[in-house]
Amino acid sequence: MHVLVLGAGQLARMMSLAGAPLNIEISAYDVGSENIVHPLTQAVLGKGLSNAIAQADVITAEFEHIPHDVLDVCEQSGKFYPTADAIKAGGDRRIEKALLDAAKVNNAKHYIINTRHDFEQAIEFVGLPMVLKSALGGYDGKGQWRLKELSQVDAIWSEMEQCIQATDTQAIVAEEFVPFDREVSLVGARSSDGDVVVYPLAENVHINGVLSLSTAINETALQQQAKEMFTAVANELDYVGVLALEFFDVKGALSVNEIAPRVHNSGHWTQQGAETCQFENHLRAVCGMPLGSTEMIRPTTMVNILGEDTLPVEVLAMDSCHIHWYGKDKRPGRKMGHINVCGHDYPKLTDNLAELGRVLDKNAFPVFNG
Ligand code: ATP
Ligand code: MG
Repeated sequence: MHVLVLGAGQLARMMSLAGAPLNIEISAYDVGSENIVHPLTQAVLGKGLSNAIAQADVITAEFEHIPHDVLDVCEQSGKFYPTADAIKAGGDRRIEKALLDAAKVNNAKHYIINTRHDFEQAIEFVGLPMVLKSALGGYDGKGQWRLKELSQVDAIWSEMEQCIQATDTQAIVAEEFVPFDREVSLVGARSSDGDVVVYPLAENVHINGVLSLSTAINETALQQQAKEMFTAVANELDYVGVLALEFFDVKGALSVNEIAPRVHNSGHWTQQGAETCQFENHLRAVCGMPLGSTEMIRPTTMVNILGEDTLPVEVLAMDSCHIHWYGKDKRPGRKMGHINVCGHDYPKLTDNLAELGRVLDKNAFPVFNG
């Protein structure tokens, strides 16, 4: 089985690692260079996109910011999973909000802004404080503003206006500020037969808008609520593959923040903590194979490695730690890899995390500060 992945980053790399035991071979389309590359070595495989489409059994994507003409030719081949519409929903907050409303899942009150007049209407409809997000191209908290008081309106509008005018398809989505207790996410898979499996929820800690820690949790009522919302969204999209939903937990009631139509950073813990990891389950789903068990086999936390390309040797020596490097060149803040930390129970996981925190440089891993 040969799978072509749109996008050639760490998610394609980890799909390739998970696919090998099932004889699933991956090649990746680098959207920037327009080359077909090997997902592990980045070696150019020397064939154009149309050849790669013709040679693939199945085509999928590892991220949502893919040119629509590329998505459309992939979809026309009849081999693309999930659907171009699902990828577009993940890449455009306007489509995403419409999807959440159509699936009737709880999400923050919102309003779409194209003009200054819309901005005034949004302030009236959504109220303050509000979060403003560019409809296209946002990730890791980039392209966002916080409007707390009316005195900020002019300054924020002048920045948003520039953003809107930069391309003819951009807009801003205003959202009510959700006073959440914590952020959780649900990663799951839907097969072409409509079967849905989900992993345990992960509790996520962000620092400066970037995911820092993600821990699988075991909370039955919240899990049930999340699974219902997941199933509603996945069915609405007639989804095939792994999908992630990010939620705000407000006193035990979930509100969907956003969706990711792909394997997700908050699902990396499944590599050591679940019976079948998210990368394998995504490949199983898109290749039409039975889905694997999503059962948690041991409590696990994923720690992102940002902007660092080395770790103290002690980390590798710790029984509880598993390092996953992405083979990328070092740049400040860049996602370079992650560490999965395991424990045979939650108290042991807490101890193991504390031990890891003592070994790591606190400047590089501020989540372990205090
Ligand atoms: P990514 O795709 O990397 O998850 P992003 O740039 O798409 O991030 P969001 O997830 O929408 O952005 O927002 C980043 C963070 O900002 C959220 O994880 C949350 O902490 C905060 N945030 C976003 N929207 C709201 C909101 N409506 N109310 C309160 N906080 C919010
Ligand atoms: Mg997010």
